[in-house]
Amino acid sequence: MSSCCNTPPPEAGNKTAKRKPTDCPQCGQRAMPIEPITVLHHARQPWLLEWKGHWWVCENPACDQVYIHERQQLTTAQLRDLPAGKNASPEAPVCFCFGVSRQQATDPVVREFVVQMTRSGQCDCTIRNPAGRCCLKDFPRK
Ligand SMILES: [Zn+2]
Repeated sequence: MSSCCNTPPPEAGNKTAKRKPTDCPQCGQRAMPIEPITVLHHARQPWLLEWKGHWWVCENPACDQVYIHERQQLTTAQLRDLPAGKNASPEAPVCFCFGVSRQQATDPVVREFVVQMTRSGQCDCTIRNPAGRCCLKDFPRK
């Protein structure tokens, strides 16, 4: 699924891909590197945060921690939107670029639309998806 978005990643995206995962300080599971711009667009009161340094995202559904930074951390309560894995509701958005809920994502027509749009680069996952990556991984399995 990692190559489903054909848009060439921005320079900063390449740097993120090279950074190593870290351990979530709360649950101990692997947290993946994420762009600061993703955090910027999903944090409540982003003006209170420190923007120097690196960010990671914990996607463990059982963990309350979402964004991790060397000197600060954001929990689910501190975000405007949650990564799909942190909200099990059928109404929870799984595709943030096209506004698809988990329930809608079971429709093959919807799924195919999202696949086509991401393949042709018509998506904006880095900014719109709180997980900072393509949403297709979050679609319910057939
Ligand atoms: Zn965690």
